[in-house]
Amino acid sequence: MHLEQNVPLAPYTTLRIGGPARYLALVTSEADLLEAIRFAREQKLALFPLGGGSNLVVPDEGYPGVVLKIDLPEAIELTRAEAKIQAEVSAGTEWNALVLHLCQQGLAGMECLAGIPGLVGGSPIQNIGAYGQEVSQTIHSVRALDLHTLNFVELSRQDCSFAYRSSIFNSTQRNRYIVARVTFRLDAAARPKLSYADLLRHFGPEASPTPLEVYEAVRRIRAAKGMLIDPANPSPDSRSAGSFFKNPIVDEHAYRHALQFLAQGEAQVPHWRLPSGAIKLAAAWLIERTGFPKGFTLTPDAPVGISSRHTLALINRTGSATCADLLRLRDHIQWRVANKFSIQLEQEPVTLKPYPDDRAPADA
Ligand SMILES: Cc1cc2nc3c(=O)[nH]c(=O)nc-3n(C[C@H](O)[C@H](O)[C@H](O)COP(=O)(O)OP(=O)(O)OC[C@H]3O[C@@H](n4cnc5c(N)ncnc54)[C@H](O)[C@@H]3O)c2cc1C
Repeated sequence: MHLEQNVPLAPYTTLRIGGPARYLALVTSEADLLEAIRFAREQKLALFPLGGGSNLVVPDEGYPGVVLKIDLPEAIELTRAEAKIQAEVSAGTEWNALVLHLCQQGLAGMECLAGIPGLVGGSPIQNIGAYGQEVSQTIHSVRALDLHTLNFVELSRQDCSFAYRSSIFNSTQRNRYIVARVTFRLDAAARPKLSYADLLRHFGPEASPTPLEVYEAVRRIRAAKGMLIDPANPSPDSRSAGSFFKNPIVDEHAYRHALQFLAQGEAQVPHWRLPSGAIKLAAAWLIERTGFPKGFTLTPDAPVGISSRHTLALINRTGSATCADLLRLRDHIQWRVANKFSIQLEQEPVTLKPYPDDRAPADA
């Protein structure tokens, strides 16, 4: 295991914000993972698994424990079982590389998740989703290290309790598991199903595109919204953690309240009715109606702002923003939305904090 001390974490995140880790362990095998955990426990330090850093807010003061940089070798193993294709994929595999690989084989089921940054190990944590698909629709099981027992376990899709931007990994069992491998199952004969307005507009209602065509269209749509990280063509609009706020799930009363703020000529508040009867509102609409347009900044030369192409993305405009700058803007938006709509917007990216179950500070 490769271990370094006082390592700046900002370069390991897509926001490019935050202070140093006391230790950064490069984890390139399951044995490394166990060794790094043993090291953290011996030193009585907290630990935190880091994937691609694309859904992460690192505080300016950094992290006082051991960051486990998941660097497991990329591996995608495809097998066929009757009408299904099974893909066993290492947690260290780049997410988009997996989607591309499957689309190139003509396999449908993940094409709408093209262009999401990060690694496969991060994908089940918040049950990534986009353009009408969620990763939980194709996850069969997750191999993870259980920090309670230090044994590897195989969790079924049901065990993971997936829901909108949620799983056991970021809710009931937060900080308990480190994902080492994810197994996906796709229907070998499936064709892409388009449900999202952007994609229907792109292809037209009668089209029957291949998975690869949908993959390419999704990436183009994302690029236009600044939601694609393109190293060849970097843009401050994609120096973000993706959507900074989740779409809030509200009751009928809150939905009716929002109706009062429809702009002239606007037919309806964008919303989705869920099987439970609850209503998911578009956080971007709430933010815009509160007076935060795309490109908003608190002051003209503020280092952070709202992306000029996507209302939900808070960006590090200058590349030198601090976490304090970012949280000031977040708080301002949350406060004003709560004031107007009585809805508390929830932050989507994870804030790097010690794993409490594992924390044993030296002075405890
Ligand atoms: C431009 C942009 C666009 C985005 N678009 C979308 C989108 O459309 N839909 C969407 O859902 N998300 C989106 N995101 C958010 C992000 O890309 C995803 O959530 C991604 O899956 C995070 O993976 P990661 O490897 O970067 O995780 P990290 O950011 O490194 O970590 C996120 C969380 O997962 C945990 N974690 C990571 N790896 C492991 C592991 N192996 N075991 C246990 N815990 C782990 C971390 O501890 C942390 O709590 C976007 C982000 C950006 C920057």
